[in-house]
Amino acid sequence: MASNWLLLRCKCGQSFGARQGTQASCSRCGESSQITTTAVFTDPAKLTEAVANANLPSEISQEIEAKLNEKKRKQLKTRDRANAGMILRILKQSTDERGVLTLKSLRVSLETEGVTEPSPEQIIGMAELQGVVQRTAQDEWKWLA
Ligand SMILES: [Zn+2]
Repeated sequence: MASNWLLLRCKCGQSFGARQGTQASCSRCGESSQITTTAVFTDPAKLTEAVANANLPSEISQEIEAKLNEKKRKQLKTRDRANAGMILRILKQSTDERGVLTLKSLRVSLETEGVTEPSPEQIIGMAELQGVVQRTAQDEWKWLA
């Protein structure tokens, strides 16, 4: 007697297969009451294929999620390379006795500290945005704070 194979779908979105007549529970969350049958096969190989196809979108989204997490980790790393406290200290170091900061002095301080990112231009830009410094000449900034 040939038995039927069911392609089942859980409310959590997971698709899985089971032999007809068996108590099926979700292979991801274990749920067994809110399962719907989406297809019936007589060939278990066909069922296996159907399960793989049905779960493909979620596998792809997991892959994308993993890639995004990786990107996030890299961004965090970049922030660690020169954190806000360190940048503030470098900005102070680059300021002369008149309270004037130049792009050149900032670049020298960054080189001394071994900071390659962010660039002096980016740091000045951030400091300007935050209202820490104000441009007073072509290549000069004065501290406001
Ligand atoms: Zn489930």
